[in-house]
Amino acid sequence: MKLTIDQIRGLFPVLHQEVHGKPLVYFDNAATTQKPKAVLDKLRSYYEMDNSNIHRGAHTLADRATREYELVRETVREFIGARESAEVIFTKGTTEGINLVAQTFGRKFIGKGDEIIISTLEHHSNIVPWQMLCEEKGAVLKIIPITESGEIIFEEFEQLLSSKTKLVSIIHASNALGTINPVKKIIDAAHAFGAKVLLDGAQSTSHLDIDVLDLDCDFMAFSAHKLYGPTGLGILYGKREILEEMPPFLGGGEMIKEVSFEKTTYNDIPFKFEAGTPNIADVIAFKPALDFITDLGKPSIKAHEDELLSYANELLLPIKGFEPIGTAKEKVSVLSFNITGMHPFDVGQMLDARGIAVRTGHHCTQPLMKRFGIEGTVRASFSVYNSKSEIENLAEGVARIAKIKN
Ligand code: PLP
Repeated sequence: MKLTIDQIRGLFPVLHQEVHGKPLVYFDNAATTQKPKAVLDKLRSYYEMDNSNIHRGAHTLADRATREYELVRETVREFIGARESAEVIFTKGTTEGINLVAQTFGRKFIGKGDEIIISTLEHHSNIVPWQMLCEEKGAVLKIIPITESGEIIFEEFEQLLSSKTKLVSIIHASNALGTINPVKKIIDAAHAFGAKVLLDGAQSTSHLDIDVLDLDCDFMAFSAHKLYGPTGLGILYGKREILEEMPPFLGGGEMIKEVSFEKTTYNDIPFKFEAGTPNIADVIAFKPALDFITDLGKPSIKAHEDELLSYANELLLPIKGFEPIGTAKEKVSVLSFNITGMHPFDVGQMLDARGIAVRTGHHCTQPLMKRFGIEGTVRASFSVYNSKSEIENLAEGVARIAKIKN
């Protein structure tokens, strides 16, 4: 990478603290990543200097805030390779992006007997909105099964596709197991049946180079807080021609051109989908996070994280009682595991006592846990600022904990 690991760590204030008297080892990056100082500085300088409502003010501060806000839309466009910034909609997060598509595209274009395909790997936020829609519309939800290693069975997916398929909504990279789905193949196959495809990019956007034009996905939803940016902000990408056909999501200010008691005309995209005062400060503070990723380069970020993952596998796999869950060939840096005879929550607590932050439980993927016949896992997820010595620390902790029962 362009910077050494110490230089990168130096950019993240939160990492430099002790937890239970031990140096913090932050391995809960799939839940949310830490924020570089540049993001915190931007939030502060926005509120100190530019705070103002956007798009409608005639004064200098409003103008500055509006320009910065719209600059971030353009930065996101570049980041994902979209054709135009009007295809970038600011939301609250991945969850809201998916719900927006379900409530607008879904309500308009999906009817009785139509089918929506998702996979066993999905996060609850890519399951429940479709269940709600199916219940309302009498549509049918179909599920792509997975192998024991946590990979979707592509042939089974092909079997599910038909002229009834209106939408395939699929996780790009699994938050619970790390599996990277072959989304390009999935998109091509779905398009052959005239179905649209939504990618849940919550876990892929921080690790993989994203080019929505090359992928040809119709929608992609992701969250800024998993990309070193602020919480409460997400992106929904959609192709212009589809967004234009979709009705608005929320009604209110900003999403209109003209309102009378007789008739309201809606604004153009993306504003049609951004009712009310948006999350201005967090949008503006997202730019330094995107710049941080772009400066380092996703390929070198991924190479570093891959190295951490394979080092973790090398140290942890030989430990007696260590049971990895999800062993796909193509993975982002997520290591999910259990320890024989122990509850994941207890393992998480014992690791926390050593200063190591991991996530335990079902990771909002209860159907996936059911597929493996488990209640949950311990999940260590690695990021650009993690080091090999932190992996050694994890391995030592897991070895000691595993010894209690194995
Ligand atoms: N999809 C995946 C794969 C996730 O990992 C997450 C968050 O963990 C979400 C969706 C939901 O993201 P958010 O809570 O930011 O809306």
